[in-house]
Amino acid sequence: MTDTAYDPDNIFAKILRGEIPAHRVYEDADTLAFMDVMPQGPGHTLVIPKAPARGLLDADPASLAALAASVQRVARAVKAAFEADGLTVFQFNEAAGGQTVFHLHVHVVPRFDGVPLQRHEGGMADPTVLAGHAERIRAALEV
Ligand code: 5GP
Repeated sequence: MTDTAYDPDNIFAKILRGEIPAHRVYEDADTLAFMDVMPQGPGHTLVIPKAPARGLLDADPASLAALAASVQRVARAVKAAFEADGLTVFQFNEAAGGQTVFHLHVHVVPRFDGVPLQRHEGGMADPTVLAGHAERIRAALEV
């Protein structure tokens, strides 16, 4: 077992610093939410804390509390925006746990009766489509 340090140049840290673009849907003092570029279904959204943490185990509890509140807020908006039948919410820790980006993040994916999830890291979505999905979620957040 190895303890690995947080890498401040991971892709989500760069999104937080505005160094690379993302289709943002929600931001507050402690958290940010944006569209996953390789969605496992329409509306697949990621919610991250602003405080640096690789995953669940090294995160500050106060940051986790803020993250949980934002996940709930975003999840409600995602479900409404896509008129989903349900939601799948998941979070991976370290490569062995399925994690590929090492800044703590929670996946929120709308689900529809009888429709399976697409493959993880399946393929890049059309940016225009992602922009439209982000707009729908932002509109649902304002209700
Ligand atoms: P995990 O680390 O939980 O396996 O998943 C990382 C997620 O980040 C994947 O679902 C992947 O599609 C997404 N992802 C990877 N690189 C980027 C990126 O540059 N921008 C965005 N918005 N999502 C990304």
